[in-house]
Amino acid sequence: MNNENLRPDEIKKIICDLSLRRSKLTGKLLSPGPMVEGCLHIIYKKCGKPTCHCKDGKKHGPYIAIVRKVNGVSKLTYVDKLDVIDKAKAYKRYNKRLASLRKINEKIFSYLRHLRDINTTVYEK
Ligand SMILES: [Zn+2]
Repeated sequence: MNNENLRPDEIKKIICDLSLRRSKLTGKLLSPGPMVEGCLHIIYKKCGKPTCHCKDGKKHGPYIAIVRKVNGVSKLTYVDKLDVIDKAKAYKRYNKRLASLRKINEKIFSYLRHLRDINTTVYEK
């Protein structure tokens, strides 16, 4: 992060802004609705019948599925309920917000460390 030339008051302002963003984000993260683990995928596929149009042309679908890792292996489950899709979307949204929170925390940490360093001298005899 390029914050070498910032004055302490500029750093304080940045940290205050970041803290406000973090606070809003945390507020959203504190009240999650029901979620379903995994990643939504839209799938088109061939049925295997030799005379079907899907053999050479348009495949069947779209089908919606949730993919998640189970013991390191991807497990795919077809979804037939709309509320499950919403819950999977909520899960994705929640994870995005968690990632944003982490980035904001890292920035705050970095600026605070910089603030420490510009106020610190070495004491030697
Ligand atoms: Zn087919």
